[in-house]
Parts: sequence; structure tokens; C-alpha cells
Amino acid sequence: MRLIKPFVLLMIIATLETMNGCQSTTEKETTDGYPVYHGNDLGVNYTRNKTTFRIWAPSASEIIVRIYDQGIEGNMIESHNMKADKDGTWKLELKGDRKNQYYTLQARFGDEWKNETPDMYAKAVGVNGNRGMIVDLSSTNPDGWEKDTKPPLAGFSDIIIWEIHLRDFSIHSSSGITNKGKYLAFTEEGTLSPEGEKTGIDHLKELGITHVHLLPVFDFATIDETRLNEPQFNWGYDPKNYNVPEGSYSTDPYDGNVRIREFKQMVQALHKNGIRVIMDVVYNHVFDAVVSSFEQLVPGYYFRMTDEGKFSDGSACGNETASEKAMMRKFMIESLKYWATEYHIDGFRFDLMGLHDIETMNLVREELNKIDSTIFLYGEGWTAGESPLPIEKRALKANAAQLDGIAVFSDDIRDAIRGPWWEQDTPGFMTGHLNLEESIKFGVIASTSHPQIDYNKVNYSDKPYATSPLQTITYVTCHDNPCLWDKIVSTCNKCKKKDMLDIQKLANAIVLTSQGVSFLHAGEEIVRTKKGEDNSYNLPDSINQLVWHNKSIYKDVFSYYKELIALRMNHPAFRMSTAEMINRHISFFDTDKPLFLGYQISDNANSDKWKDIIVFYNANSKITEVDLPDGEWVIVATKDFITEEGFTAKGLGKDQIKKTMVPAHSIMILVDKASI
Ligand code: CA
Repeated sequence: MRLIKPFVLLMIIATLETMNGCQSTTEKETTDGYPVYHGNDLGVNYTRNKTTFRIWAPSASEIIVRIYDQGIEGNMIESHNMKADKDGTWKLELKGDRKNQYYTLQARFGDEWKNETPDMYAKAVGVNGNRGMIVDLSSTNPDGWEKDTKPPLAGFSDIIIWEIHLRDFSIHSSSGITNKGKYLAFTEEGTLSPEGEKTGIDHLKELGITHVHLLPVFDFATIDETRLNEPQFNWGYDPKNYNVPEGSYSTDPYDGNVRIREFKQMVQALHKNGIRVIMDVVYNHVFDAVVSSFEQLVPGYYFRMTDEGKFSDGSACGNETASEKAMMRKFMIESLKYWATEYHIDGFRFDLMGLHDIETMNLVREELNKIDSTIFLYGEGWTAGESPLPIEKRALKANAAQLDGIAVFSDDIRDAIRGPWWEQDTPGFMTGHLNLEESIKFGVIASTSHPQIDYNKVNYSDKPYATSPLQTITYVTCHDNPCLWDKIVSTCNKCKKKDMLDIQKLANAIVLTSQGVSFLHAGEEIVRTKKGEDNSYNLPDSINQLVWHNKSIYKDVFSYYKELIALRMNHPAFRMSTAEMINRHISFFDTDKPLFLGYQISDNANSDKWKDIIVFYNANSKITEVDLPDGEWVIVATKDFITEEGFTAKGLGKDQIKKTMVPAHSIMILVDKASI
């Protein structure tokens, strides 16, 4: 999701005064005067003998449940009136085995009948998500699902995220994958590009990432699931049914069971191959507030409104939900718990997290910890427009210190490396923009507090916002804005292609040697291009897809990314878990050279076998000489090679004393000789 210009945000944050009060989670009444329902049985719950509906709709005068034989068209089998029950809920019990029957709810308010709609808690739906389906979840489990276990994760510092749109992963002919654009693409092992390079899940294993971050895979509105033979594309930031997988990614969107089973098969296959699964969740807004199940069942409750009574639009998508309200908060928390338990999801990325309130986000963390404390949570610490939610209550980057165990994206290091998101032609450090060194340093220490950072010179933040490096997502690009290659092309006019490929390496070499949680945009390891498009949310496959032919064309870049990842995973010094550790072990050199910076990680940081490590980033277009501290130093990495045994052992050069020459557009890592 797009974000507001950071300097605007900074001005808003500057007006921030005191942090204050919290809303009780055990309240009896909502701020709108409705009773709060505290039970855990909202929605439709199936057993072989009966199916029970319980819906919170405190302002409704009447609710009718209609049962259908199909998810679209077909015949209505029967209809029933729900009965008003406790705390604003309505209840209906249907006898017999109702498995796979479809349903809608229709509510009356005074004289006005709303539309037929599934409930917001629906666990299964028919095609396009317009009717709910009564589902026997146990029958959707693939073989061996009960034995599915998460790959081990010692700590969040070990995470390397790879962000992918589900369709982009497999849709191109060169993927060699049968189930193109489907959940099942992730279950196909042994797939190859025409040139014989590994693709799909085998590519991910080869690359060495730990977590796949899937752009929206809940049911969204903008793909017509009845027309899947026609070209359609959307990122999916337009939620329709939050607790149901998207239908267009299944092999049969008409049968509500299929998408559930195939989603689970995807998770199971990734887990079996050692990769954890993160969902991009978009609770901050819905596709169309007026027709949403929220508004059809409890008009005016779930959304923030302006003083004029219109939908507030902090998402820049037409509406924003109100996480601070008891029943929206409850909905979010229960939805996340459902994905974590029913689908074994290992992490959640919160779209426009700044639109959620801090208290809700901390409750999310607390509740998910009860299920699995290794579930990773992070989000966009900004909003996309003005919101009535007071700034001091927003889960913003600037308020990250109040978010317990939740990380935020560092737009500071992102835009320092690549250039500002709102000006595609403006370069960053990587392509020669001066005076961004301090912002890169701020990124190296993962937005924590460090005595050698001059915070006044940091691009977007004027103080440290992370209390722990694990609160910072370190990255240079994601699905938003130009992809890395396109940004390099548009900001480095004088570069030759070789220089641009060097910069493609340098950008993520900075990311993967910096502290914090590493995040990579899928396909940059094979030099993905979006042909200059910076907002491809609804553009065709020809712009968005991963073209697997690139893997053999850019084999050198792929190998480099793979080796960078291996270097990070082999060396805990690059992934310290506390700010105190970073302060103790990292010191920056006073090199005073433009487009250049360096630092030393000393004294076997985080139990690294290497005692002293020197890292230089040279964004100059020429080789740069730099002084070294006393001692003999062994080069282990430049843009051309990464070898943990050292260049000397490979016959690639001599050990370095007093000075070294850092190649153009290159990282250089040196290690004290005794450690090699
Ligand atoms: Ca859909």
C-alpha cells in the first residue's frame, strides 16, 4: 500500500504530546452503546448433527438466513428467522448434516432490508464470495496435515523474508510449473526452467530464505472468479471475506472446500521444505464499505467516520476500519488466531498498520503468543491519509517502542539506499546521491540508539524508534514502487549494464549485512524488471510475473544473493538480537568520503566465530582507497566474490595491512586473519 510522504508524517508526529489511556477489553458496552459479545462462537459452526449460526447484529430488527444448494444461482432450499439472543447476538440452530450447503444472511433495520451477504466470520464461501458455505473443516485437511510442523526458528533475528505475489511466482511459461498461478504451484518439487535452473519451491530452498511472505491470499474482490480464463490481475488489497482463502488461486473457486484444502497443501509443502509462511493481512479497510458484510449487518459500527458522517479514508481506499472498537478488535484478533491455528500460518504483515491502534496490536501479539510465540508480526508503520484515530494511539513507526514484539518497515534505510519512493528518477546512495551515509548507518544498526549516529542527518527519523533490532524490517524494495532493477535503470543514466548489475548486488548486500530482519522483494535475485512500472497492482502478468529465464541469464547475481544469504546465516554478528549488543560491538569509521561508509563488528559479536569484521559500502563509480585498523585483514567479500575462507586461500589476492582498495559499486568485508 502506498504511504503518505514521510516528511508530512514527521510534521504530524512532531505535534505528538502525551501517550494516554487505553480501552478496556472486557467492557460490557461499545462506544456506540451496543452490548459487547465475549463468546468465541461467532459465525457458523458445523457438526454432523447440527449447524449453529451466531451473529452479532445489535441494531438489527430481524435477520433471515437462506440456505442454497449452490454458491451462486441454483435453488434456495429453505429460509429461517434468527432469534435475538444475548449481548446483541442472533442465533439459529439447524438440525441435521448441513455440510456443503451455502447460505446468506439478510438483516432488516426498521423498514429497510439490507442485501443478502455472508457473515463477516464466514470460513468458506462460494465463487466470488457472495454466499457463505457450511464447512466441515476437518474434511478439508490434506493427508498428513495433523503431522504438519513448522520449520525450526531459534529467534526472529534468523528470519530472511521473500515477498511474493502468488500468481507472479509461477504464471510464466518458463516456471516449468503445472499449476500456474495457483496455491498448488508451491507444492510442485523438481521443477526447472527451460535452461535447467531450479524454479518454484526448489529455487527458494536453493536461495536459502526462511520465510515466504504472500501478498493477499484471503478472499478479495477485484478478480472475477467466474472468468478465470480471461486475463485478470490484482495484488488483492481489496478484502471481501477475511477468513477465507482467495478463490482465483484455487483449481475450483465454485466448491468452497477446494480453496481451503489447496491453501493447506501449499502451507504443508512449504513447511516440509523448511520454509515458513507469512500472510499479508489488510484489516485496515475493505473493498467496498457499503456492501461489506460489516455494514450490511451492523451499519455504521465497524468503520471510522468523519464529523460529516462519511467514511473516513485513512487508507486512501475509500474507508478505514475502527480497530479501537471492541467488536472490530475482537474480529481482528479472532481472525488472526483462526489463520494461525486452522492454516498453520507463521507470521502476519499488517498493511497500513498505522491505522490500527497500539492497544489492539499489542493484544494481537499477546493472543498469538498463546498459540505460538515464534509467529512473526510486522507492518507498515504509517497511514495513507488522514485518520480520526489520534496519532498517539496509532501503531506508527514513530510509536514502535510501544509495540511489544512487532516490527515496522524501515523506510529510512529503504529510501536511503534506493532513493525516495515518490520520485522515481531521484537516486539514492546506491546510484550516487550524496549525504545519505548517516541514514544508511541508521539502517545498519536497525533504527536503534547508537552514540555514533547523528540523528539530525537521518532522512526520515530524527530519533531512534526501535528498542530492539528485531523491531526493524531492513529492506530496499517491495511490491510497492519500482522494483530494484527499474530504480537502478531510472537513476543511473551513465551506468553501463555491468555497473547496474553491480549495484543490484550492492543494494541487497547492504540489506543482508545490516542488523534487523532482512526482507527481499521476490525476483531481485534474478534481476526482475517491471518494465519501469512503479504501481503494478492491476497490470498484466507481462509486467508482474517472474521470468525464470532470467535465472540463467543472471546466474552470477543469483549466486551472489545466495552466498550473501549463506554468509548472513553463518555469521550471527550480522543478526544481533538486542540494541545493547549492537552498541557494544559495532563502531563506525570516520572515513569522511562521499558515497562511502564503513564499520567494524568487534569481539566475536553474538558468538560469531569471526572475532573482528570490517564492512565497507562503496557507492562510488570508482575504486576507493581506505585506511584499515592495525592488524592483518583477510578479504572475504566484494562484489565479485564471497568466500568465507578468505580471498587469500583462493589465490585471489593478498591479506590487507593498513590500507585496502574497495572496488566501485561494491561491498567489501574483511576479517581479522587469526579468525580465518
Ligand atoms: Ca475473490
